[in-house]
Amino acid sequence: MISLETFIRKWGLDPVEYCRVADRFPFRLSRHCMGLIRSPGDPVWRQVVPDPVELRDPVGLTDPLAEEALSPVPNLVHRYPNRVLWLVSTQCAAHCRFCTRKRRWTSPVEMTERLFREGLDYIRRHSEVKDVLLSGGDPLMLPDPLLESILKELRGIRHVEVIRIGTRVPVFFPERVTPELAGMLSRYHPVFLNLHFNHPLEITPESGAACRMLADAGIPLGSQTVLLKGVNDRAEVLGELFQGLLALRVRPYYLMQMDLALGTGHFRTPIATGLEIVKSLRNRISGLAMPHFVVDLPGGHGKVPMVPNFIENISEDVVVFRDYLGNRCEYPLLAGEHEELGRLLKR
Ligand SMILES: *Cc1c(COP(=O)(O)O)cnc(C)c1O
Ligand code: SF4
Repeated sequence: MISLETFIRKWGLDPVEYCRVADRFPFRLSRHCMGLIRSPGDPVWRQVVPDPVELRDPVGLTDPLAEEALSPVPNLVHRYPNRVLWLVSTQCAAHCRFCTRKRRWTSPVEMTERLFREGLDYIRRHSEVKDVLLSGGDPLMLPDPLLESILKELRGIRHVEVIRIGTRVPVFFPERVTPELAGMLSRYHPVFLNLHFNHPLEITPESGAACRMLADAGIPLGSQTVLLKGVNDRAEVLGELFQGLLALRVRPYYLMQMDLALGTGHFRTPIATGLEIVKSLRNRISGLAMPHFVVDLPGGHGKVPMVPNFIENISEDVVVFRDYLGNRCEYPLLAGEHEELGRLLKR
């Protein structure tokens, strides 16, 4: 880990200003991530280096997704009927300044033996839970034996069909991914890994090797990307990222609109920006490389897809489309279909 003092010295920054921000929202940076920074203010820098504007966010909420209120047991978020989000780690290899859980950096809820038991008991008692999503913090920051004991306990619960792990370790700390780790994970299949890549600069020989090891262990890999102002809010950048991920056998899953977390407002883009980007990428890059653009609604209402409009008009007997090149095209409707279609598309 790189200390804030080392970082400040390396780049000749004003210690007072940076320490003030880091007192409120702590700094954390892995050696590998430091190596990705090329110059001050570049897309990696913006993601991980404290910025004084974090202290001047007028609209941010401490817990934008109401995760604490939706936790029947501390650290276990049960928002959707058949799956839970379990925050099993408080550590990350680097702190993303736009993190939706930055409230927890200064007041982490440590996973005690008792909280592990309570979480497992809750999942055991709720047979509707088919899918457990491990997150944090970053679950791959846990020591192998602890991570393995969690997976083993979950696999011992009959109704848990799928285990998912959300992690930025392959991006920030790729040397943590070893054949032993990949082999261990693969003993608890189906285990899905959802990675978090935000910029093509994060695709390196090291992160590529980590992905290869995981994919070779038969672990399906997905990635989520947070749409970040001044970092990746351009179609060329995201197109290159998604295409690059696909070549690593990583399937882009979600492109996420910024949550309203306190201290992150400067990263927020207009929703229209995301829609324009996915509209311009659609059909130009492989459909396999296209994530769903989603807004995670404030208050814990869940993720909703935002789909750009390719429809110009709906009449009694045809829908008029504009294709990705802007050309008009008509698709004939069946008799009586048009009303229901209009209702479903709400326009
Ligand atoms: C995102 C999320 C999930 C998983 O949602 P999917 O759309 O199935 O990937 C589950 N629980 C919570 C609380 C979440 O935020
Ligand atoms: S790795 Fe994930 S949990 Fe950790 S700081 Fe970044 S966004 Fe937040």
